[in-house]
Formats: sequence, structure tokens, C-alpha cells
Amino acid sequence: MILDELRSKALVCTACSLSERRTNVVFGEGDPRSPLVLVGEGPGDNEDKTGRPFVGRAGQLLDKALVEAGLSREMVYICNTVKCRAADWSTGKPQNRPPTDEETLACRQWLIPQLGLIAPKVILCVGAPSAKNLIKKNFLITKERGLYFPCEYAKTAMAALHPSYILRQQRPDSDGGFGLLVQDIERAWQAAQKLAEKDAQH
Ligand code: SF4
Repeated sequence: MILDELRSKALVCTACSLSERRTNVVFGEGDPRSPLVLVGEGPGDNEDKTGRPFVGRAGQLLDKALVEAGLSREMVYICNTVKCRAADWSTGKPQNRPPTDEETLACRQWLIPQLGLIAPKVILCVGAPSAKNLIKKNFLITKERGLYFPCEYAKTAMAALHPSYILRQQRPDSDGGFGLLVQDIERAWQAAQKLAEKDAQH
């Protein structure tokens, strides 16, 4: 199967209850031949409206971090653990919430083949839920971000702070971890490039 076929199937998925309120399935975008894939948590309001990953305030911060790391969106592939927006609708006004374990599990039917078709050298998990899904269940983002881990779906995987977390931590005297995000993207890209070059030599 090619990636476009997988996308077409995912766009009409109703495998979990998130399908009931979504506007768009946010499958992913970027260069599917890139050695580096960034995997976030899930779409928010802006992503649900546009069908594109990381386009709200957090997405703008991620774009800024990519640029500071010498990259652009077009040089990597960006997707999410869960492809539909998870929100609490109990007050009438939707509030984003983390996807449940069941929703995350249901959406692995798209994420895992997606990673299999792209076959990245390095996966950069953006935020703890992604790292818990792809690296290990008990991943500790503040202690273990920036470290390389074995990964079933790439040669290696690393995790970085989520831009939404960074935005919440930012103060006049603190970048909230933005410098760490840039550093982790730089290191993940360098590792991905090295692994791609090594593979090309064989
Ligand atoms: S979140 Fe994933 S599994 Fe659930 S409906 Fe959307 S695409 Fe399907």
C-alpha cells in the first residue's frame, strides 16, 4: 500500500468515538521520504478545522523551532498519535483533552502503517503521550527527553517537549524550554542524516 491509499482510508475512519465530532481527520504532512518524522499528540481546534497538523499557536512555535534548527516543515514529516481531535464537550464549549488509551490504541491502526511506509531513520516524539505510545509506557518527558531510545518503528527515537507545554511555561525570564526543543530537533535531524548516509553506503 502507498501512503496516499492509507490516507484515503484514514480520512473516513470511524473506529473510535472521536469520529463523531471531528471536522477533519488530520493524517499528516511533509516529506514522506524524510529521514525524520515528528509525532505529536493529536489535533486541536485549528488542526481539526484545517486538516493539518500543528497549525495553531503550538504549531507556530514548532515552526519557529524548526527554523532555528536550520530546517523547515517541508524537510520533515509531521503527524500525530491520534488523528482526530479529542475534546470534552460536556459544557457545550469544546475543551481539548488528552486522547484516552482506547482512542490511542484504536488510532495505531493508522500511525503504525504510516510509520512503516515512511520508514524514518529517527522518530522525534513531540510530548509525553507520543513517547509513551512509541518508546515506552512509563516515559518521563522531563528526565528522558533528548535521549536516544530503541524503537520498533525507526532506527532510533527521541522525545522533545511539546510546544503547548513550552507556551504554558514561558515567562519574561524563561523561554519555557524552547531552547531545548530547538536542540532536540537539531540532534534528531543530525542523527537521521547520519543514519541515512550510512544506509546509502551499503
Ligand atoms: S482518532 Fe483515529 S481511530 Fe479514532 S476515528 Fe479518528 S482516525 Fe479513526
